[in-house]
Amino acid sequence: MSGRRGAHTVAFLPQDLDPTNGQKLNEHCAVIGIIGREQVFSNVVISLKALQHRGQESAGVATYDGSSINLRKGMGLVNDVFQEKDGVLAQTLSGNVGIGHTRYSTQGSKSLENAGPFVISSSVGYVALSHNGEITNADKLREELKKRGASFVTSSDTEVMLVEIAKDIAEFGIPRGFRNSMGRLAGAYSASVMVNNRLFAIRDPYGIRPLVLGEVDGSYMIASESCAIDSLGGKFIRDVKPGELVELTENGFISHFTYAARRTAHCMFEYVYFARPDSIIENREVFEVRKRIGHMLAEEHPVEADVVVPVPDSGRTQALGYSEASGIPYDEGLIKNRYSQRTFIMPSQRTRETAIKLKLNPIRSVIEGKRIVLVDDSLIRGNTLKHLVALLKRFGATEVHVRIGCPPIVSACYFGVDMKTKDDFLARGKTVEKIRQSIGADSLGYISMGNLTKAIDFEQDQLCLGCLSGLYPAYVPGKNYEIQAALEGY
Ligand code: SF4
Repeated sequence: MSGRRGAHTVAFLPQDLDPTNGQKLNEHCAVIGIIGREQVFSNVVISLKALQHRGQESAGVATYDGSSINLRKGMGLVNDVFQEKDGVLAQTLSGNVGIGHTRYSTQGSKSLENAGPFVISSSVGYVALSHNGEITNADKLREELKKRGASFVTSSDTEVMLVEIAKDIAEFGIPRGFRNSMGRLAGAYSASVMVNNRLFAIRDPYGIRPLVLGEVDGSYMIASESCAIDSLGGKFIRDVKPGELVELTENGFISHFTYAARRTAHCMFEYVYFARPDSIIENREVFEVRKRIGHMLAEEHPVEADVVVPVPDSGRTQALGYSEASGIPYDEGLIKNRYSQRTFIMPSQRTRETAIKLKLNPIRSVIEGKRIVLVDDSLIRGNTLKHLVALLKRFGATEVHVRIGCPPIVSACYFGVDMKTKDDFLARGKTVEKIRQSIGADSLGYISMGNLTKAIDFEQDQLCLGCLSGLYPAYVPGKNYEIQAALEGY
């Protein structure tokens, strides 16, 4: 899709009714941005494919060709939206600067209008945004912006963020406009922003979601994870700092400012579950962190057993670590149907349960007559584990000892991970013994908070641990949080 620059207007492309009936969106997404001397479209699409694990519901790309914005987005996987014919992308979007987005959402918000990137035509030209995270004061900002004449066509917090940034750039220019926006936006955001032919990366002052910079054949790029840079054969440069505005150009990048909070609050769950193991976040390889989690689990919760079996794929690296530290052999006792989707990111309880049954099947020779240590990365709703423990026993396991590489999840996430309904959490209000009984395991051990943070190699006050403790690092309406006082004197 293309459009023409509109003067002094703030209008969404496409204009439509709010399809979500005002339901709050929460999402976990991937963002990309690339600028170079050559056309960037195919590299944006390839790097989105490398980040497909961060969102499987919709995908989109926006490019700027010197006079207009070109936008294509659709529901489904990157491969569905950007199809290939004879190994070549069937369509192309022209421009040497572009941003991309993949997204997943929860109930009610599954619609094309809420897919990224978002684009508006404003008095400064086109502003396009791909966002990962969640703006926790979006409702308040939306009301304020409406009073100043802005109109909204979706219920998305990303739309609020985009309108705020466009307004501030129009009022204060670049970079001051971004600085003003970052002072007003609360919550989590790692984003790529295109203002006509200029490309920017911004990250919230706590650095909750990851965001990295790289170079690919003379082009410069922003990505949610370093594996996207690797997918293009590029070079990882560094993380975008918490609170930093970086402008990427054809010749490199400029750090305009860093608007940091008193502390960081990197999401521990990126290391535990979300990020790809081959990614490097804040100088820590995710694979190594997960292995260390396994080592610590083995020290904290030893058990006599014959074989360590991972829940594929999420518990594999932690299981390797457990095996290394305990000396108990590792084996693949469960085979995954690779064509079924990750259950955690499927929208309804019923589809999740069906997916579990389709997803994993035991290998009898590994299981029968054995005492098994079953390792997974985390335990949220418990459906998968309960089913797996029963399945392993049906296949002849004499004992099943469950080990979990994340402390009990008891509180909602307000920073972009689909964990809003705390009643869904198996561990909420239960002792470990009660949880063990409910999943039917012979023993159950969670890694402690102290050992988790040691494995990630951050102090506790450098990480977000909100879903484990109920204490949040940034503003959440009605919750305990460390107020952003450090930002006020900026
Ligand atoms: S609440 Fe949990 S999942 Fe959400 S950002 Fe914090 S650590 Fe990550």
